[in-house]
Amino acid sequence: MTFKKLAKLYSRIKIYSYYFQGNKMAILQMATYGNPILRAKAPEVTELTDEILKVIVDLEDTLSRQRGIGLAAPQVGISKRIFVVDLSPSKQDIKVALINPEIIYRSAEMSENEEGCLSVPEVWGNVLRPDEIKIKGMLPNGRTVTIRAEGIYARALQHEFDHIEGILFIDYFSPGEIEQNREHLDTILDHNRKKLGRILI
Ligand SMILES: [Zn+2]
Repeated sequence: MTFKKLAKLYSRIKIYSYYFQGNKMAILQMATYGNPILRAKAPEVTELTDEILKVIVDLEDTLSRQRGIGLAAPQVGISKRIFVVDLSPSKQDIKVALINPEIIYRSAEMSENEEGCLSVPEVWGNVLRPDEIKIKGMLPNGRTVTIRAEGIYARALQHEFDHIEGILFIDYFSPGEIEQNREHLDTILDHNRKKLGRILI
């Protein structure tokens, strides 16, 4: 891709950001636990189109409205390998959108920390994950990057990467943690059974 084309793409992102500010902001509806889309392995993005750039802006807008630190496309009903991470709610100046990400390194050292998920509201539990990762992916400007991350950043990237693989953080829960959250999990499933007619847990 030429530099000019990159600049054009980037200005398009700016225009979308501007357009969706204020009451034009697109807040997407969340797919919650039980929705089969959360269990699908999302297909790769084959071309960086306007539609893909709009998905990214909508993900960023929806994430900031929901005050989360990460959101993947399947969570808003779009089965594509795209996610955004924004650590500003945890007071860190890190914001990234990745297309077709791939985890290329996971440290042997692991640690446990509490996680929650916008698709599984009011459910919390400890998840054991590698402390440090390297992830490769495409930015919205078309550039391919490799990011080295640790701590909360590495955790958020891994949680979002799991979403495009059809994995949920509750899959790592101990039977005790599942029991502790049973009521909330059942409430979400009941809601989706009525709304969707079919659930996949
Ligand atoms: Zn999640």
